[in-house]
Amino acid sequence: MSDLSLPALKRQLVSYSRRLWDRGYVANHDGNLSVRLPARRFLCTPTSFSKGEVGESDLLIVDPDGKRLEGRWKPFGELGLHLTAMRARPDVNVVVHAHPPYSTAFACAGRAIDCAIIAEAVVSLGDRVPLIPYAIPGSATQLETLVTALPWYDVVLLGSHGVLAVGVDLDQAYLRLELVEHLAQIHHHAQALGGARRLPDGDVTRLLQKRKEAGLGPEARGLTGTAPTFS
Ligand SMILES: [Zn+2]
Repeated sequence: MSDLSLPALKRQLVSYSRRLWDRGYVANHDGNLSVRLPARRFLCTPTSFSKGEVGESDLLIVDPDGKRLEGRWKPFGELGLHLTAMRARPDVNVVVHAHPPYSTAFACAGRAIDCAIIAEAVVSLGDRVPLIPYAIPGSATQLETLVTALPWYDVVLLGSHGVLAVGVDLDQAYLRLELVEHLAQIHHHAQALGGARRLPDGDVTRLLQKRKEAGLGPEARGLTGTAPTFS
């Protein structure tokens, strides 16, 4: 749980909401953010708002079932994704969802993102950002797949839709989403030059070990076995 007061969290949430719009990661009313509060409550953006226009007084507070407790606007339609993510990952406090163009292009082309083309990305994100197969947003199928994926990954692509990132705070969740978009952009440009080259397998293994030592990734949270890849 964040140490920030509710007014400070609201200011921060609005700042990141605007940053999503400033960076071109959302259009129209796309994208949404939520933050875990004490006493099983969640602070989130309202529906039908440009993320460049949201103000602190527009934010709302909901319960774990998505019922509005405070605020004058309605919750967004993808709230089920956020609440499911929060349940699947009790260690995170923030969910950020957006449609950044390069990574969403991967999601729409049905392709996962290989992170093992740059060493730092493997430490920050693991060796891939998986693609959760397309399902109607908020459907039981999509939520079930999300529950399977999120223990293993901090960022996932939602097939034919967009990107969902989790983090302990807004900074971490946003920066993860930003890094995935940057990687997708690098893949896109490398494609014109023959495609990005994957790092040697032995180096990827060492980088994943560094990730674990940094307290990141599924192994650092006690998970063993093989991560689901969905494709
Ligand atoms: Zn969306």
